Amino acid sequence: MGVGIGAVFSRRFAQRSGYSNMSNATFQEIGAVLRANQSFAVLSHVRPDGDALGSQLGLALSLSKLGKKVMVRNEDGLLEKYGFLPGGAFLQTPLGEPQDFDVAVALDTATQNRLGTATELVRSARIWINIDHHPSNPGYGDLVYIDSTAPATGQILFELITSQGLPMDQAIAENLFVAISTDTGSFQYPNTTARTFEIGAELVRCGVDVGRVNQLLYESYPKRRAELLRELLGTMRFEGHGKVASFSLSLKTASRLQARPEDNEGLIDHLRAIQGVIVAVFFEELPEGKVRVSMRSKSDAADVCAICQKFGGGGHKLAAGARVRGTLAEVEEKVLKEICHVVDCNS
Ligand code: 5GP
Ligand code: MN
Repeated sequence: MGVGIGAVFSRRFAQRSGYSNMSNATFQEIGAVLRANQSFAVLSHVRPDGDALGSQLGLALSLSKLGKKVMVRNEDGLLEKYGFLPGGAFLQTPLGEPQDFDVAVALDTATQNRLGTATELVRSARIWINIDHHPSNPGYGDLVYIDSTAPATGQILFELITSQGLPMDQAIAENLFVAISTDTGSFQYPNTTARTFEIGAELVRCGVDVGRVNQLLYESYPKRRAELLRELLGTMRFEGHGKVASFSLSLKTASRLQARPEDNEGLIDHLRAIQGVIVAVFFEELPEGKVRVSMRSKSDAADVCAICQKFGGGGHKLAAGARVRGTLAEVEEKVLKEICHVVDCNS
C-alpha cells in the first residue's frame, strides 16, 4: 500500500502507555502533508457509523475549504439516517473510475480490509495516512496516528484541525460533533473524558445547534427500527446468572421487516443497559454464511476486543465485533462459550 515515502518522515516514538510498539506521526507532520498536496481520497470502513461518516465529511470539508481536490468514499455511501450531515453530497456521487491521488486517508478503520471496495477507486496514492482510535489497528500506511484513548476518530480530527490551523466552520463542527456524540453514546461511555466535553463545548461555539442535531440523530428513527427492536427483544437470552445478555436477528426476520443494516446500530445498548449485565452481544445472520457479532462490555475486566480477536475481529476493549463463519445457532454457541470463559458464568 503506497510507496515507502513515509520513511522520509521522522517518526516520533509514542510514549503513551500501551503504545510502546506503535510509532505515531505528529500532527505537524500530518498537517504539513495535508497542506503540501493537492488531491485527496478520504476513506472509511464498510458499514460506516456516525464516527466514520462525520470524520470523513469533517476532514473533507476542511480540505476542500483549503482549496484541495477531495474524493470521499466508503463502500456503503451516505446512510439515509445520516443524510442531514453537511457535505453529504461528497458521498452521493457515483463511484466512477479509479484515480490517482497525492494522498489517501483512512479514517476510523482498524484494518485495511475493512476499507472494502472503497480502495478500488484509489489507483495510486503517494502517501497513505491512517488516523484511528482502535487499539487493534496495526498501523498500516505511511503516516500513522492512532490514539486509543480518544473516544472517537472525530476527536483526533478536531485536535489535528485546530492544532494545525486548518479550516473549521459550522459544517465541519457539526460533522465532528456527530462523530464524537455517536462513538461516546452521547457523551456517556467511560471513554468520554474532560477533553471530550471541552471539544463538545468548542464545537457548540463553532455553531453546532445541539438540540437540532440531537433530534436529527436520536429522535428521527424510522418505525422499522422500533419494529426490529421488538423482534430482537423477543429472542433475548441470558447466560451466567444475567451477566451475559444476547439477542439475534435471522435473515428471514430482517427480510420480513425490510430492515436495513444501519437500522440496528445502537440497539445493543438496550442489553447493555440492563442491571447486572456485563457483556451484551448481538448476533446478526449475514447472507454469505457468516454471522456478524457485535459486543459491548461494562467492565474493563471483560475485554470484548480480545474475545472478538479470537474470532478474527477487533475493536475496542468495551465495544468490538467480528464476522464469524457458521449458522446463527453455531456462532451463538461458540461465542457465548468463549464469553463465559472470560466472564465467570458459574458464579
Ligand atoms: P459495532 O458493534 O458497532 O459494529 O462495532 C464496534 C466496534 O468493533 C467498532 O469500533 C468496530 O470498528 C469494531 N468492529 C466491528 N466489527 C468488526 C470486525 O468485523 N472486525 C474488526 N476488526 N473490528 C470490528
Ligand atoms: Mn470510531
